[in-house]
Amino acid sequence: MSNATITTLLFCLLLLAPLFYVFRRWQPSQASSRSRRDQLNEQSMRILSSAVEQSQSGVVIADCSGIIEYVNPRYTQITGYSNAEAVGRIAELMNNEQLTDPNNLTMQEAMQLGSSWETFMVSSRKNGERFWQQVTASPIHDDLGALSHIVLNIEDISERVETQAQMEQLAFYDPLTGLENRRLFKDRLEQSLKHVRRSKKSTALLFIDLDQFKRINDTLGHDAGDELLTTVARRLRECVREEDIVARLGGDEFTILLADISHADDAGLVARKILQSLTEPIQLGAQEVTVSGSIGITIAPEDSMNASVLMRNADLAMYRAKDQGRNNFQFFTDDMNIESQARMSLENELRLAVSNRDFVVFFQPQINLANNKICGFEALVRWRHEQVDLIPPDRFIPVAEETGLIIQVGEIVLRQACAQIKALQVAGLHGYTVAVNLSARQFRDSNLVSLVREVLTETQLEPRWLELEITESMLMDNIEQAIEILTELKKLGVTVTIDDFGTGYSSLSYLTQLPVDKLKVDRSFVSNLPESARHTAITTAIIAMAQRLKLQVVAEGVETASQANFLLDNQCNILQGFLFSPPVNPESLDQTLTQLGLMLETGTARCPA
Ligand code: C2E
Ligand code: CA
Ligand code: CA
Repeated sequence: MSNATITTLLFCLLLLAPLFYVFRRWQPSQASSRSRRDQLNEQSMRILSSAVEQSQSGVVIADCSGIIEYVNPRYTQITGYSNAEAVGRIAELMNNEQLTDPNNLTMQEAMQLGSSWETFMVSSRKNGERFWQQVTASPIHDDLGALSHIVLNIEDISERVETQAQMEQLAFYDPLTGLENRRLFKDRLEQSLKHVRRSKKSTALLFIDLDQFKRINDTLGHDAGDELLTTVARRLRECVREEDIVARLGGDEFTILLADISHADDAGLVARKILQSLTEPIQLGAQEVTVSGSIGITIAPEDSMNASVLMRNADLAMYRAKDQGRNNFQFFTDDMNIESQARMSLENELRLAVSNRDFVVFFQPQINLANNKICGFEALVRWRHEQVDLIPPDRFIPVAEETGLIIQVGEIVLRQACAQIKALQVAGLHGYTVAVNLSARQFRDSNLVSLVREVLTETQLEPRWLELEITESMLMDNIEQAIEILTELKKLGVTVTIDDFGTGYSSLSYLTQLPVDKLKVDRSFVSNLPESARHTAITTAIIAMAQRLKLQVVAEGVETASQANFLLDNQCNILQGFLFSPPVNPESLDQTLTQLGLMLETGTARCPA
């Protein structure tokens, strides 16, 4: 038996109770002539009547035209209207033509048909407060089968509706920005695709990623990060129409759905507007920051009619935008798919290479022009690939970094580099340092310090011969943590160099706090020496600063004699570059040491400018 049927039966019985009382009052007392059966009836009526009085549901009894004859205390409690105020009025549902039940019947129609009726509706309490109620109406018929009364059962479901709304909010909306979340966005995308099928119009999906979020979040704190995201969310909303969907997928990733666009260019216009609005400065506490975004765009039905494919397309296009120097937007093109497939296979092959240890470390000499001697090497990894021979690091380090494989690759390089220098020492070739590059992920790896210690012990290389190169941007991501890691490394007795110096963020003020030993002037400055006035100024400033902070300075990428002379004239003695030697494989190391050593002694390595 359904709930509605039970309710109806119960109310048929309950209804009779108050009516009975009313009826009783009209009758002259005939107690003496009452039969035993009458007494029993009266008793059960009293029970039923008090059940209605005490019911946890609001109960309204109206006649067949909707005029209220009775309301119970719970009804008064819910609505604020007393029995006296309610009786004689017309039940508001009675003539409401708009309000229908799931069978599309108005209450009156259902009552006439003799069926019960149920609906959810918003109503007003006496004090004007709005509330949600669930109403069940049941018809009562007289002996001849005509509708005589209607019983309304009323539940105040405001709390339930609110909890449900809150749960929906949690399930479908991002609590920080109030934007839709990934789940709801996926739904909307599906709906939008259905609409595309019917309407023959296009839909654009935009994938937006902020360019500097991580850095701001790390340097200014999470509260500032949250405020930034909220501001960005608001700006994104302002850039689109009311009916467009803006969602936050998580972190600093946002998506936008532009429905019913007639041309892909429309999406480009919106993207341009977004980039423009993002560049407006944002005030975060005392700090003013500026951000930019990279946007990928894909269009349905042109690119795909599958929601997951579209999401991936937009993501790929966004990465292309990042590759193109950020702060721009890119439309998805098919070649991005090919690229991503190539990347996938690269990733798998790289995994295999790691387990097979298919890497070889090359060594590029570093020269000290103060005494014309080779003072060390930089260890530079290559992937020894079956088909391609040697793959340069720029081609696979970024993938290794993203997939985490860099931890294993880095360990292989560190071991080979230390073992090689130790082997030179054993062969009687002393006095060479080896500089090993650390990637961002390796640097933050909690195992780094113990790994370095372990490798030094294993290879029996004294720590003073090992140098670790880290880049400026790796330090700036979280300066306090970086200082801690550097201090630990320095305790081991190894040297720390800041690589690519001058290309990172304006971090000069931090430099005094950092426990480092060396700066490496970036190749991009060296290559323009001495012609570029700007690069000459930067290089001399870096050298001067290093001297003031008592740090050593190295220049890399030295290709010409005039570059070498300029550096030497400005007190930068340690140089590395093709002018002296390219990176060489371990087998040729002996030979390189001999040949280059000879050239340096005779002065032929440093040509007159
Ligand atoms: P980097 O640390 O800046 O390394 C110097 C790069 O400059 C090397 O490229 C080197 O071959 C190249 N180079 C040296 N002299 C000259 C020159 O005179 N002119 C020019 N144009 N280039 C010169 P390579 O070996 O291809 O390495 C590229 C980058 O890959 C490195 O840049 C480094 O960031 C990364 N890398 C290399 N080995 C490792 C490694 O073992 N671990 C990590 N994490 N990264 C590595
Ligand atoms: Ca380096
Ligand atoms: Ca470098």
